[in-house]
Amino acid sequence: MNKRRIIFRVFPFNLLTFPTLLNAWEQEGIDKHFEIIISDVPVQYRDGDVLILSFMTPHLPEIEREISSITKNVLIAAGGPHITGDPELAEKLGIHILFRGDGEETFIEFGKDLISDNVPTNGKIYFPEKKTEPDKYMPFSKYFKIVPPLQIFHGCFWKCKYCQTGTGGRSFRSLDSIKTFLTKLKSKGFKRVTFISPSALEYGSSKPGKPDIEKIAALMELVSSFEFSFFEYGIFPSEIRPGTLNKELCKLLRDHVSNNRITLGAQSGSDHRLRELNRGHSTKEVITDVETANSHGFIANLDFIMGYPDETSDERETTFNFIRALSRDHKVKVHLHHFFPLSGSSYQFRLPTFLDNKDKIYLRELRKSGISTDWWEKHEKAVRNYFLWLKKYFPEYLNKYS
Ligand code: SF4
Repeated sequence: MNKRRIIFRVFPFNLLTFPTLLNAWEQEGIDKHFEIIISDVPVQYRDGDVLILSFMTPHLPEIEREISSITKNVLIAAGGPHITGDPELAEKLGIHILFRGDGEETFIEFGKDLISDNVPTNGKIYFPEKKTEPDKYMPFSKYFKIVPPLQIFHGCFWKCKYCQTGTGGRSFRSLDSIKTFLTKLKSKGFKRVTFISPSALEYGSSKPGKPDIEKIAALMELVSSFEFSFFEYGIFPSEIRPGTLNKELCKLLRDHVSNNRITLGAQSGSDHRLRELNRGHSTKEVITDVETANSHGFIANLDFIMGYPDETSDERETTFNFIRALSRDHKVKVHLHHFFPLSGSSYQFRLPTFLDNKDKIYLRELRKSGISTDWWEKHEKAVRNYFLWLKKYFPEYLNKYS
């Protein structure tokens, strides 16, 4: 008898998600009951297929296009940050099975339900009874050649208003588990190792904003002992929160990592905005951390977000001046993003503001002079497209935004 097909639909934005989910199935022997298909293009669906999706809020229009192109009787199951924060819109798209919160345990439950033919046809929301143990699963799967960065810090101490990462507690992967990962990665011949951490220097901390230097040193020494050609830390996807860097930690990084840049989430040049966002740091810490980074030979990548709710032109000018001053006096590269209301965040139903022509000309000049990137242009397009899409397909949903 043919096995039921489970199709993991890979997009650039969810490429790192599926290996860990499949690792959970492989540990339980669930995958053997199915034909597992990994596809980065739409497949010819058949009746009875199961489609697995994972996405964030900005990807909803693309996910909706994919779903509406399906003409067969396919069971659609999806998880990811958007559904965790707000399952309502996902249900409206026609997704039958929703995973909220940490996905590994509930994905196992779903696999077992599929095997015993116990998945309700009218849909179900899977919600984990407890947080996933951070050491239990690894991003290794026999169905993927890639090995995503290892997540060593789940959740976050902070609750910045535009972000949903800090809304569900926090936990750290143990050094023993990291060692197991490194051993396997090395044995597979990988030369580069990276980690996922929302705040690189708060790994292992017991208090927000108070790095545990011994824990960071132990992490650095452990990874270095494996002698990978490239060990990156303190840069995407393990950025540094302003206010957590100091000379001792910077020296530790300098002695161990191969990246010559570190990334600091500056987010705004306005102290008023930083307070409003609950960032827990001011522009002063950004300047101090940039100085510390530069004095240890690191160029500082600085992330800023434009287009916050209720952002005024004065606030924007304050941020522009801050960027100018930093780039005049220090070795920095500025990455400019555009605000997007992400589900599950405090700002999930807040409308962005949009840059006027004068601002855009200014930012394009910054780009030309090599001070900043122009990522904001793509992000601005995405947020505009999202609201046009909402207006076209779910106009009643627009009323939630203010
Ligand atoms: S923006 Fe960074 S520091 Fe703030 S809640 Fe999100 S992950 Fe944590």
